[in-house]
Amino acid sequence: MSVKVALLGGGVVGTQVARLLQEGVADFAARSGEPLELVGVAVRDLGRDRPGIPRELLTDDPRALVTRGDIDVVIELMGGIEPTRELIELAIANGASVVTANKALMATHGAELAEAADSARVDLFYEAAVAGAIPLLRPLRESLAGDRITRVLGIVNGTTNYMLTKMDEQDASYDEVLAEAQRLGYAEADPTADVGGEDSAAKAAILATLAFHTNVTLEDVYCEGITEVTKADIESAREMGFVIKLLAVVELTDDYTGVIARVHPAMVPRTHPLASVRDAFNAVFVEAEAAGEMMFYGRGAGGQPTASAVLGDVVAAARNRFSDTSSHRPAPYADLSVRPVGESKTRYTVSVDVADRPGVLAALANVFADNGVSIQTVRQDQTAEGAILVIRTHIATESDLSATVDALRSLEVVNRVAGVTRVEGESGS
Ligand code: NAP
Repeated sequence: MSVKVALLGGGVVGTQVARLLQEGVADFAARSGEPLELVGVAVRDLGRDRPGIPRELLTDDPRALVTRGDIDVVIELMGGIEPTRELIELAIANGASVVTANKALMATHGAELAEAADSARVDLFYEAAVAGAIPLLRPLRESLAGDRITRVLGIVNGTTNYMLTKMDEQDASYDEVLAEAQRLGYAEADPTADVGGEDSAAKAAILATLAFHTNVTLEDVYCEGITEVTKADIESAREMGFVIKLLAVVELTDDYTGVIARVHPAMVPRTHPLASVRDAFNAVFVEAEAAGEMMFYGRGAGGQPTASAVLGDVVAAARNRFSDTSSHRPAPYADLSVRPVGESKTRYTVSVDVADRPGVLAALANVFADNGVSIQTVRQDQTAEGAILVIRTHIATESDLSATVDALRSLEVVNRVAGVTRVEGESGS
């Protein structure tokens, strides 16, 4: 007997999965209970050279592969939404467990695929879809099943973290670091999904769904990328002892009745563990009521690291086949409401270009007070035409802060609001 494995996709991750599967035959057999046998690899271009994948395993007909009737585990590494979604449904309908690394698909159709897997009593695992090699989803789902997770805060996109690290350490501009990231293969020719934040938002949706037992999809996630982050923003953060990171934040509301999911650049104190996450690494900070704070750190992408997470799932699925079971998936039983980002609470730094005359500071302070936003510190930098006031706030809601900024813009003494940046990772109120 063997566990028959079909692979959809023989690209960056797929070739590494195929290679490691074949190199580790004896180990995988011992760990799974039965040998894992790779019986087919679906690709688009049969003519391309794929080191490590025997030619006779290749097919350009993924549908025929997943419906041949004897497949135990389908590994989906094609990417995209269609025809991938349909192929996974077919695989499940044909009794196969599914392992995927596809965050875009899981963040949009995860709930329906999970239900289909539950009805068919097969597994659907997707550890590699968030933070690549880092074991994160299984700890959230299993190790922390006895706790209440209140917040997950992370750097889950290596490309943007690489870019922000270089902007900070090499004093480089956004365009310079993007070009370098593309040259080194960290960024795609079309970097929109990374720099625009959508990749992180898909991961935030998956994290929120698991952490809070509530279906959260990509559409529910507030998303701002790093395209507007300037050299000046990075310098200003550095002067205040902060670093700018693109964060995915998913959290319970204070009364535990709602969930907020957001992705945006934020200032993080240099003393916070997330500040030391450099280059293309990922790290996720989890806060749970009983366990307290935990951090998961490692390689968030790349063929081999991602293959490691995929193969961990394959072994788990194969073990379940061996013992004729499937993992219990906790239903999204909590069914909390997803709240608008306006209800999120954090600190802010607001830079305001003002006329340099008496009474300006008092006028600004009134606007903050009128809108319920409490000021923590104010720094004044002289410029040729006037002054820049850099105001740091205590915790405030996003909607109160927005109202404050709108009111500042209408003040006669304000030339412009030069920047608003959220601050995460500071303790206290
Ligand atoms: P990739 O290098 O572009 O490989 C995709 C593979 O799928 C290729 O072999 C391609 O065939 C095949 N394929 C695409 N559409 C197909 C179709 N309609 N029929 C048959 N074969 C098809 O992608 P990747 O980087 O390995 O990523 C795979 C998945 O893993 C994605 O969901 C991605 O988001 C996820 N992921 C990737 C990483 C990473 O570091 N790369 C990290 C985490 C998660 P051809 O080779 O013939 O074109």
